[in-house]
Amino acid sequence: MAISKRLLELRDENNWTPDELRFAIYLCDEPLPIQLHGAAFTAVIEAQGTDAQKKSWLPRCHSYEVLGCYAQTELAHGSNVQGLETIAKYDPATQEFEVFMPRKESMKWWIGGMGVLANHALVQAILELPSGRKGSHLFIVPIRSLKTHLPLAGVTVGDIGPKAYAGFGQMDNGYLHLTSVRIPRENMLQRFAKVDSDGTYHPAKHDKLSYGSMVALRAAIPMAMGWNLARAVTIAVRYCVNRRQFGGAHGKEVELQVLDYASTKMRLYPLLARAYAYIFAGRELLTLYHRMLRDLVDREDVTLLPEVHALSSALKVKATWDCAQGLEESRKAMGGHGFSHMSGGGAIFATNTASQTYEGDNYVISQQIARSLVKALFLLKKSPKAAIPRHFSYIRLALDKNADTAGGDQHLRLLHVRAAHLLADLATTVANDPSAPWAAHSWIASRLAAAHADIFVVVSMPATPVTDLHILSTLVLALPDLLEAGAVTTPQAAKEIRQAQEAAVEKLRISDVVGLTDAFEFDDWELPGVVAAGDGRVYDRMLEAARKYDVNLGEHGEELRKAAIAITDHASGVKSRL
Ligand SMILES: Cc1cc2nc3c(=O)[nH]c(=O)nc-3n(C[C@H](O)[C@H](O)[C@H](O)COP(=O)(O)OP(=O)(O)OC[C@H]3O[C@@H](n4cnc5c(N)ncnc54)[C@H](O)[C@@H]3O)c2cc1C
Repeated sequence: MAISKRLLELRDENNWTPDELRFAIYLCDEPLPIQLHGAAFTAVIEAQGTDAQKKSWLPRCHSYEVLGCYAQTELAHGSNVQGLETIAKYDPATQEFEVFMPRKESMKWWIGGMGVLANHALVQAILELPSGRKGSHLFIVPIRSLKTHLPLAGVTVGDIGPKAYAGFGQMDNGYLHLTSVRIPRENMLQRFAKVDSDGTYHPAKHDKLSYGSMVALRAAIPMAMGWNLARAVTIAVRYCVNRRQFGGAHGKEVELQVLDYASTKMRLYPLLARAYAYIFAGRELLTLYHRMLRDLVDREDVTLLPEVHALSSALKVKATWDCAQGLEESRKAMGGHGFSHMSGGGAIFATNTASQTYEGDNYVISQQIARSLVKALFLLKKSPKAAIPRHFSYIRLALDKNADTAGGDQHLRLLHVRAAHLLADLATTVANDPSAPWAAHSWIASRLAAAHADIFVVVSMPATPVTDLHILSTLVLALPDLLEAGAVTTPQAAKEIRQAQEAAVEKLRISDVVGLTDAFEFDDWELPGVVAAGDGRVYDRMLEAARKYDVNLGEHGEELRKAAIAITDHASGVKSRL
């Protein structure tokens, strides 16, 4: 909370723009209570509010008088948005909505910023009109008093407590129960769907219009994950350059840098390439996203939506899987000290591993991507000349094995064949049993989402040796799929891909790798822990840090000394020495 407050003071002192504030929050490296106020609450009002709503709410959002959070998930339902139970019942007599949760399982849960800070929540609730229920819509609900910050009448609100790995420690993820809370009609976001004062409902022109802005958070994840992996790999590389174990070859006295071991290189160098890959792909995705949002908000043009929705979901899935795995591998590459808080590796993992679950659980949103791809394939089957999104073009291979989709690039072609094969398999299953729920296909859908994302990542990168390493590493990990797809047919072909990856790693000298991590231009303070400082004084810094821990200092040290004496006195049955 103190950090959140200080950031707002700095914003005022320095006239930061909203983007500058967002960047400052990002640089704090901890999810903070004020974060979702801008990234979700304000952003969604901007995208889904009417002009009048924006005029009324946005100035108060920007001044932080109104502090909001985004409340969708409930105690018993998250992924299943259709299963959400919070109700907003319209009363034409008073022109108000009565917002309530019918049972304890329908209370909101996990909501970032809600536990302590927010005084408003953007609540996803089922719209109930005299004419019947109209599905989920968004409502601005005041939850705490603007004067006293106490919960308002009918509101029960609190914090859900500590999270796994002590991650999200600063974030006040909260719960909310509403009992008959009344809000004016104007508090329903009505840019797309509308409710007249007499309760007449006007649905959105296109049912996808409202979720264009919701793609925003998802679209930002791949690049953020790329940068986080970049930090973790930079820490590991710097540490492993300084760390030496075992004698040098031929009796040389200087011990070897642990980065020079083949297995350390094979673990870290592909991760370095992966970090670059997601930074490039994330940047490309955000460019596409902003183009789509402009079309959507300015002209209600949804042309780009299916492509960006599928890409942002696929990239979110693959980037969070790959980077979370890479974060942990980078920590392990530092051996024992990697497990110390001083390495900083654990902290990055703890903060970022939840990305595999929030903004849509990876296995659940993979089905959305798979569905778009299968739909596009069925369309192409029916009308071979039909227009399909640019990044779906490889799916022609599922209909014609000889289609040239990769423009002569052999590696890209392998990735195309793999994705097209998975798609063809899934499409056959769907065609054979169209009534089966999509969840029945969730495993193959997750493999297809990964394959789809891998293609986008590869084509987003400029041609460099780092890109080659990333492509080869992607192919090595995809070998089981490539074999299944018949894209790799002999043991020798599989071996050649693996050997090419090893050769690409071997080609990078330690100085290249150090240069590639320096190129991220991280300041020491951007890298948590003490082992990666630019001056290379790893052990001195570790000793300095250890000396400063509370447990080794005056008051606490003394308390603990007494506790230790009490334990040994008790064990030996002597009279207390204290
Ligand atoms: C750190 C953090 C912050 C969050 N912040 C917010 C917030 O600010 N606002 C908000 O509204 N929510 C927030 N959430 C909630 C989050 O969006 C949900 O937890 C997430 O969408 C997953 O939904 P769930 O919890 O219902 O998981 P579940 O759907 O219950 O998942 C449980 C398991 O079942 C599997 N599963 C479920 N359904 C299917 C299916 N159809 N097919 C295949 N597998 C399936 C999943 O893969 C998973 O393994 C946050 C969550 C976390 C962890």
